[in-house]
Amino acid sequence: MTLRFAPDDLSLPQGHYVGGRYRPAVGQLALQRPSDGAGFADCPVADAVLVDEAVQTARAALKSSGWAGIRPRDRVRVLHAWADLMLAEAPRLAQLEAVASTRPVDAAAAGDIAISAEQIRFFAEFADKEGGDVVPTDDSSLGMILSEPYGVVGAITPWNFPVSMAAWKLGPALAAGNAVVLKPSEMTPFSTLYMVELAERAGLPPGLVNVVLGNGPVTGNAITGHPEIAKISFTGSTGAGQAIMANIARHGVKPMTLELGGKSPQLVFDDADLDLAARCVAAGITSNAGQACVSGSRLLVHESVAGALVDRIRAAMALLVPGNTWDGGTPFSPIISARQLDRIDGIVQAAVAQGAELICGGERFDRPGYFYRPTILSGVGETSPAVTEEIFGPVLTVQTFATEDEAIALASHPTYGLCAGVFTRDLSRAVRVTRALEAGTVWVNRYNRSLDHILPTGGYKSSGLGKDLGRAAYQANRRQKSVLIGL
Ligand code: NAD
Repeated sequence: MTLRFAPDDLSLPQGHYVGGRYRPAVGQLALQRPSDGAGFADCPVADAVLVDEAVQTARAALKSSGWAGIRPRDRVRVLHAWADLMLAEAPRLAQLEAVASTRPVDAAAAGDIAISAEQIRFFAEFADKEGGDVVPTDDSSLGMILSEPYGVVGAITPWNFPVSMAAWKLGPALAAGNAVVLKPSEMTPFSTLYMVELAERAGLPPGLVNVVLGNGPVTGNAITGHPEIAKISFTGSTGAGQAIMANIARHGVKPMTLELGGKSPQLVFDDADLDLAARCVAAGITSNAGQACVSGSRLLVHESVAGALVDRIRAAMALLVPGNTWDGGTPFSPIISARQLDRIDGIVQAAVAQGAELICGGERFDRPGYFYRPTILSGVGETSPAVTEEIFGPVLTVQTFATEDEAIALASHPTYGLCAGVFTRDLSRAVRVTRALEAGTVWVNRYNRSLDHILPTGGYKSSGLGKDLGRAAYQANRRQKSVLIGL
């Protein structure tokens, strides 16, 4: 079943969502549809007063519902009901995702939303299985570690996978007994709003999650600096992550989880299955038009197989056909904005001007909207922004190596350490190289994640702090209190 829809006929949730109802607000940020560039909505900007109201509403809902203190199995039940409702409402959720973002509607429904529902179930199940501990002491005392929720968690998400990113934040925070004030990206707020509306329909106490819309400097700052928000969970760029750390430090100290940017290498050795490697490398840089934190944007390939591999990757890229995100199927995605499209092209043209060879792409698609052709650049200088900066577009650079040590040295990035791919048939080499790489996730003979929610995700170096997914993400939403009782 395809979910093709007419974007002009889609009704959008209006305003912020606080205390279980929409708060209509004056739109301040004009939004364009990436697929055709048409203006279609405005996003309001919540100020510090509204953010404070959202925090107080969350505190009051925590208290009146007893969410942190009810039987944990009751939290599990509500979260499963929410996941069920998300699946039942996947067509509308996917439309709200597709109209504003770069996610094709079919991919959003079958992929992002289905997987997010599963992840919410995954986190729900920790609620009545993870807890504190009784620790060894002498007979005159009883020592315990209590595991407690934080209270109100502040969550801030990016535009590239709006539903998934909201699920990564809300799932563990709610399962762990917290309330949440959530700010989705100002470019893609609609699916997140509807998702939270569905949570309340599924039985989540109204006001336990409040969605405030707005940008980073106003709304984001008000969240990260709010004294009654006990923890911050953020996904976005490394620059914004740094700004958030600085703002938190200005107001005090609070725990934070930061999932940030990447410039991930894909290492292909001379004994690799080249067809497999080509498929994975091509998908790793063209999925969502390269607008994924995990994009494998730097191909590092043994010099003896470089030509054969690049030919195959170029052939795979040539099959991609751009299309409107609302037309069904799984077309090649647009770039999120005209500004980002210009930035991508600027980096590519500068690399070419400095002597890089353009193997394919290097230009916009000749059609409405913000589409950029899958691009391969080789012979790029080591200091060129094409190999140092997170481009966040479908641009792959190619560098060759002769030895394993050279490959490992090239893979190391001064700033980022989010992910890496290793392609080889030699198991010993795969393990050796995996150990040597400074990356939070390493995929061997595959690229990108699947349904393995138990594997934590998060970066080394300036790619992040803490983990989303896995048991670690649930635990990051609880804090520990040591208790010693004299008997
Ligand atoms: P962004 O950093 O511009 O914005 C992300 C969110 O942060 C938005 O909601 C934005 O309004 C908010 N924000 C911006 N500045 C802020 C500030 N100073 N204080 C508080 N909030 C602020 O990122 P983006 O363009 O929306 O998303 C793309 C980036 O996200 C890429 O760098 C990508 O690698 C990263 N990302 C990382 C992961 C991961 O798991 N590591 C996943 C998805 C995206």
